[in-house]
Amino acid sequence: MAMQPLVIAPDPRLKKVCAPVDAIDDDIKRLARDMLDTMYKAPGIGLAACQIGVLKQVLVMDCAGKDQPPEPMVMVNPKVTWSSTEVATYEEGCLSIPDIYCEVERPERVTVAYTDLEGAAQTVEYGGLWATCVQHEVDHLNGKLFIDYLSTLKRNMILRKMRKLKSERAKDEAE
Ligand code: ZN
Repeated sequence: MAMQPLVIAPDPRLKKVCAPVDAIDDDIKRLARDMLDTMYKAPGIGLAACQIGVLKQVLVMDCAGKDQPPEPMVMVNPKVTWSSTEVATYEEGCLSIPDIYCEVERPERVTVAYTDLEGAAQTVEYGGLWATCVQHEVDHLNGKLFIDYLSTLKRNMILRKMRKLKSERAKDEAE
C-alpha cells in the first residue's frame, strides 16, 4: 500500500461535502489502508479522504500516545450525534495546512456514529484529544477546515502563506 500525496489548502477539494459510501468493498478497504499509511508517515493523528483527493466520507485516526501501542481507527460515514456543552481548547494543526498551529475551542466530549470496515454500525464516545481530532476530521468531510474557526484576518494570512508554499513547491518540482 502506498502513501498518497497530500492536498494542501487552499484547494477546492477541501471545501466540498464528501459523498457517503454505499458499500464497504475492496476499494474502500484499500483507501483506508492508504490513508493510514499516509497519516502515519506524515506523521499525523488524523486524516480525511479529501486530504488525499478522494471525496468520500472516510476518516482515519490514531491519537494513542507516543509510548502506547498504535490504535488505528477507520470510520466510514461518521456523524457526530451528540456533543457536550463543556468545551475544550486544543492547539490544532492539519496535514493540509503544514506548520500552522492555532487554538480552537470545541465540545469537550462527543458521540460519533459510523460504519466500520466490516460494514457494521458502531457508536463511540470520545473525550480529550480523540474528541477534538474526530471533530476536526468530520469537519473535513463537510468541507470545513480548522482555520474556518479563526478570524477572517488570521485565516487570510494563513491562506496567503499556503499559496506561497505551494508556488515554491511547484517551482522546486519544475527545476
Ligand atoms: Zn486537518
